[in-house]
Amino acid sequence: MTLITHWIAGAAVDSTGAGTQDVYNPATGEVIAQVALGSAADVDAAVTSGLAAFEGWSQVSLAKRTSILFAFRQLLVEHTDELAALVSREHGKVISDAKGEIGRGLEVVEFACGLASLLKGEYSDQAATGLDVYSVREPIGVVAGITPFNFPTMVPLWMSPVAIATGNAFVLKPSERDPSAAVFLARLWQQAGLPDGVFNVVQGDKTVVDALLLHDDVAAVSFVGSTPIAKYIHTTASAQGKRVQALGGAKNHGVVLADADLDDAVSQLTAAAFGAAGERCMALSVAVVEDSIADALVAKLAEAARAVTVTAGDQPGADMGPVITAAAKERIEGLITSAEEQGATLVVDGRGHTVPGYEGGFFVGPTVVDHVTTDQDVYRIEVFGPVIDVVRVSGLDEAIDVINANPYGNGTAIFTSSGEAAREFRRRVKVGMVGVNVPIPVPVAWHSFGGWKDSLFGESHIYGPEGVRFYTRAKVITQRWPHREKPSAPSFHFTSDATK
Ligand code: NAD
Repeated sequence: MTLITHWIAGAAVDSTGAGTQDVYNPATGEVIAQVALGSAADVDAAVTSGLAAFEGWSQVSLAKRTSILFAFRQLLVEHTDELAALVSREHGKVISDAKGEIGRGLEVVEFACGLASLLKGEYSDQAATGLDVYSVREPIGVVAGITPFNFPTMVPLWMSPVAIATGNAFVLKPSERDPSAAVFLARLWQQAGLPDGVFNVVQGDKTVVDALLLHDDVAAVSFVGSTPIAKYIHTTASAQGKRVQALGGAKNHGVVLADADLDDAVSQLTAAAFGAAGERCMALSVAVVEDSIADALVAKLAEAARAVTVTAGDQPGADMGPVITAAAKERIEGLITSAEEQGATLVVDGRGHTVPGYEGGFFVGPTVVDHVTTDQDVYRIEVFGPVIDVVRVSGLDEAIDVINANPYGNGTAIFTSSGEAAREFRRRVKVGMVGVNVPIPVPVAWHSFGGWKDSLFGESHIYGPEGVRFYTRAKVITQRWPHREKPSAPSFHFTSDATK
C-alpha cells in the first residue's frame, strides 16, 4: 500500500509518529493509500527547517524570487493534467473541475509573480525639512497553512505563493482525506528552484494542527475549513500571539427575482449547487425565490437536477462525482431525511443513489428541497453536499432579511435584470462576496477572498492585496542627514513643521 509522506527540508519523510490513516477513492469506496500522520516532532522538524531556510530566502533578491515564481507557474501549467487526475482520484470531483481549481490556484501564482511591484513600498520626500520617510514591508518568518479537503490544490495555492513571494517560509498541513496534491506541489516548488525548507508539508490531523498552533516559531496561521475549527484555530493561535486568518463554513443564498432570466438563473443555480457535489464553500445551497415565479423555477430546477450526470470523476461526460467519505454521504442523506420530517417538500431525492460499476462509491444524487423554512435543519446546517433548498419570499426586502439573519456571510448572488435591485442588494446584504448574475463570485486573484460573520475569523481576507499585507509587516524609516556646516541644536520638544 502506498504511503503518502511528509515533505520536510526538501525531501520526502515517512515518519508515522501518530500512525497512519486510510485514503479512499470515493468513487469506488476502496482504500487506495495510507497517509502518514505526523507528530509534534515532525512539526518541529518542519518549522526548524523553515526557520533555517527563511534566513536565506528572505534575503534573496526580488528578481531571483520572481524567476522562481515564474518557473513554478510554468511547471504547474505543464503538470495540470497529472495533478488534476490525482485530485479527482482522492477527492472525487470531475477532471474538468479539478483542472478548474488548479487554474484558480494558478491565478494566485501569477499574481505573486508580480512580487516586485507588490513590495515596492512608499517614500515621502521632504516629509519635514531635510527629512524623508519611507516604509517597506518585510516577511514575518515561518507561516503555517491548514487546509480543507475540498480544494486540495487551490486552497494551498491561495496561501503559499503569496507567503513565499513575500519572503516567508511555509509549512502546509493539508487535509488527511486527499493529501497527495500537497506533496506534488512541494516537488514542483523544488523543481522550480525554491531552496529546500521554504515549502514544507506535514501530513496529519489535530495533533499536527495543535503543534503548529503552539509552536513558538510559527509567526502566522492561515486556515480554511469548517466554522467550529476556524473558531478554534483563531482563538488558540491568537492567544499565542500569532497572526491568524481563519476562513470558515458557509450557507450561500442565490436570490432569484421575478424579472430574472429564468432559464439562465436555473442553469447557474444547477451548476453552483451540484458542481463538485456541492462540496464548495461558495456552493449556492439556498435559492431564495420570489413567490410569483417559484413554481416555475422549481419545475425547471427539478428537470435540470435530474439531467445531471453522476458518475466517477474521471469518466467521460461526468458532471458530478461522489462525496468525500461514507460518513459524509450518511450525514447528507440524514439531513435530506430531516427536511422531509420537518415539513419541507422533497422534489428530487438523491438518497440511495447508485452508479452502475461503482456500487461501493459514496454517491448522493442531486437533491431539490422546496418550501424550506429557516428553522429546518437542512437550512440551518451547512450540508456540504448536492442539495439545494428553495426558500420562497415575497420580494427583495424579505430575501435580504433572510440572508442577513443567517449566521454565515461567505458568498451570495442575485439573479435579476434590474440594475437598481442589484445595487440595492449588494449595498444592503451582509456578506463578503456578492455576485450579480454570477453564481459563485470567487474574486479573481488580484482582489482578495473572504466572508463575513461566521465565515471568517480575523481581519484579513486571503490572497490578493490582503494576502500580501497578512504575510508582511511594515517597517517605517524616518531619515535625515545632518548638514555639515549647520549643526543642529538639541530639541527637547516634539517637532512638527506644521506648528513652526
Ligand atoms: P475541517 O474543518 O474538517 O478541516 C479543515 C482542516 O482542519 C483539515 O486540515 C483538518 O485536518 C483540520 N482539522 C479538522 N478537525 C480538527 C480539529 N478538531 N482540530 C484541529 N484541526 C482540525 O473542514 P473540511 O471538512 O476539510 O472542509 C470543509 C469545510 O471547509 C466546509 O465547512 C467548507 O465550507 C469550508 N471551506 C471554507 C472555505 C472558505 O473559503 N471559507 C473554503 C473551502 C472550504
